[in-house]
Amino acid sequence: MNSYINSLKEQNKLSISIDKNKTFNWKYFKIAGPCSVEGESIIEIAKEIKNCGADAFRAGAYKPCTFPIRTETNGWKEGLRKEGLELLKVAKKESGLPIVTEVMDASMIEQVGEVADVFQIGTRNFQNYTLLDALGKQDIPVLLKRGTWGTVDEILGAVERILAGGNENVAICLRGVVGMPSYRHVFPTIRWAPDLMMIPALKELTNIPIIYDPSHATGYRNFVTPVSKAALAIGADGLIIEAHPDPDNSISDPAQAINYSTLVEVFNG
Ligand code: PEP
Ligand code: MN
Repeated sequence: MNSYINSLKEQNKLSISIDKNKTFNWKYFKIAGPCSVEGESIIEIAKEIKNCGADAFRAGAYKPCTFPIRTETNGWKEGLRKEGLELLKVAKKESGLPIVTEVMDASMIEQVGEVADVFQIGTRNFQNYTLLDALGKQDIPVLLKRGTWGTVDEILGAVERILAGGNENVAICLRGVVGMPSYRHVFPTIRWAPDLMMIPALKELTNIPIIYDPSHATGYRNFVTPVSKAALAIGADGLIIEAHPDPDNSISDPAQAINYSTLVEVFNG
């Protein structure tokens, strides 16, 4: 069981180097950016996010939404897609930050791989085995987001599948799970239950880095700071946070986006 994970642990090998030249210290790795690329503003945003202290920039060019989006707003339809990737290339060059962005399907790896320094697997693709197998053959790191239903075996099994292909650069992202928190009727944008306990549980079983996502896990911006602190306090190796210059007007996930000053506060503890 979990043989690749165990052998990494035995070698005391912490996976993940973000690119071949730089090995980042995953002890407190900070990823931030808006939910999605919304337009040319992404270039300025990337520079500002760097100034807030981020180690990597996140933004989805492809945004699988819970319900299909039928109408296009200024080219945005579940993301700016190809155009979004082109803009991310510029954002990367201008900010100097590595890019974390979602790849939804094995057929998109080449295209997304032209800009991604870290491939994000979205929660909806957590058990897309074709995608996991294909990413196992890449030498670009993978941030695997836990499916909202994922058990510990399913998480470790998904990680194993990537490691089995030869890609040892895998981090797990916990982003909240299905559940019915009793405060939800008061905070209607909350969709998931924070899965903090999974951090020490996984730490007991593996040395794969754990990145916590307090934005999706809480769904409400005022909870992002306290849940970030809690995640770090119980062993998370880093955070991935949705931040936006004008949070309420984010195209996707506005209720959970925080502004820059809150981001700086979170990063500085
Ligand atoms: C995201 O990171 O913006 C995202 C779509 O997250 P998830 O796949 O966890 O829903
Ligand atoms: Mn989002």
